[in-house]
Amino acid sequence: TVVTRFAPSPTGYLHIGGARTALFNWLYAKGHGGKFLVRIEDTDRERSTEDAVKAIFDGLEWLDLLGDGETVYQYARADRHREVAQQLLETGHAYRDFLTADETGALRDAAKAEGKDFVSPWRDREPTAEDLQKPFTVRFRRPLDQAVIVDDAVQGSVRWESSALDDLVILRSDGAPTYNLAVVVDDHDMGITHVIRGDDHLNNAARQSLIYDALDWTRPTFAHIPLIHGPDGAKLSKRHGAQAVHEYAEMGYLPEAMRNYLARLGWAHGDDELFDDEQAKAWFDFAGINKAPARLDFDKLAHVNAHWIRQADDQRLLDLVTDILASRGQPLDDTGRETVLRTLPLIKDRAKLVPELADQVQFALLANPISFNEKSQAMLQGENLDRLSRLREHLANTADWSVENLEAELKLFAEKEGVGFGKIGPSARAALTGGAPAPDIAKILVAVGRDNSLQRLDDALQ
Ligand code: GLU
Repeated sequence: TVVTRFAPSPTGYLHIGGARTALFNWLYAKGHGGKFLVRIEDTDRERSTEDAVKAIFDGLEWLDLLGDGETVYQYARADRHREVAQQLLETGHAYRDFLTADETGALRDAAKAEGKDFVSPWRDREPTAEDLQKPFTVRFRRPLDQAVIVDDAVQGSVRWESSALDDLVILRSDGAPTYNLAVVVDDHDMGITHVIRGDDHLNNAARQSLIYDALDWTRPTFAHIPLIHGPDGAKLSKRHGAQAVHEYAEMGYLPEAMRNYLARLGWAHGDDELFDDEQAKAWFDFAGINKAPARLDFDKLAHVNAHWIRQADDQRLLDLVTDILASRGQPLDDTGRETVLRTLPLIKDRAKLVPELADQVQFALLANPISFNEKSQAMLQGENLDRLSRLREHLANTADWSVENLEAELKLFAEKEGVGFGKIGPSARAALTGGAPAPDIAKILVAVGRDNSLQRLDDALQ
């Protein structure tokens, strides 16, 4: 069975590149009836923080991409990594290097000056009992003069000459395992079958493959995906803003919209732009991954979000809007919540971001008597007022307060008046909303409610 993993280093928030990596791993596992695991790569003790671990899980939780089963913490497995390093030493695939950091630096410079690659003299030297008293690092003894070929599921067959790689340090002199060793051991022990990650790790795949081979372990399938670039085509950076997943949540994107959009970021299934998780799981494959970097496109993202807002359950949108309004110092009581719930289906086809809904419900939440902006005041004059008072009577006789029926009644009224709707709509809108952003008149009437609408018309007629 397929087992994938997302293996972030907890040195900051979950950024959207990481989120997309997690998503691809999740989609691949779920599409194959497999498992998706999370491993926190916290071996860098200086840069790893508890806050970052929390931020990563908050982001994954929001995106609904939490792993199956227990999270693996890499640092906690250091003994196991050392055990494998020991095994490599015993089988001759690793050696103790007693050079100090200064000596290594000097030898490296000297080799470079001669146009050669640095190789520690300890690669071919037996330590004496005395040497063994001194501190040492453990280096992987890479096979020389051998091609390393990685059959990457995205990049194709990629080849390195083993001589171009170096004898990787796998244990530091303090016994701390290094990244490439830890990743191989953990991926093996976790039963990872597919490693899907950013193509900045492609060179590591060569190094890691050699370690797999030395241990006689089966290599996973590697799939290195191109990075995400900003809208200008440059590498994503602070300058582009909106790098963190939580920033997207705050801006008012829905998690399902992010999943939909991120799935399309560097992967395609024909021309399909809008799809749900089930479709994405069924369709996701390595063949559809683009080899060129993906570019963030906020217009596309907004379009996808608008789609998912239209699909979203109103009760859920109500909770989101209630929170936004509360944070703006506009807490809702039960009546307010009812009003918002009634209004949401009437306005949600026009919103690209959730906070827009909080703006667009305002007309329905106004307390009577409402105040009129200048333009509305100008509408509420002369013959408009006479017609408005006849409209008020017409509506007072209308019992069925549905959008459909109100549209029919408004049409009927216009016919009775012998005028186009342009003579009725603007003043009715002015009276009912005071000029606040609002949808069509019939929808306004439903959102504001029957009694309230008649009251606002009365107030305007005063
Ligand atoms: N911890 C690495 C990173 O955050 C990922 C390692 C991997 O996926 O193999 O870049």
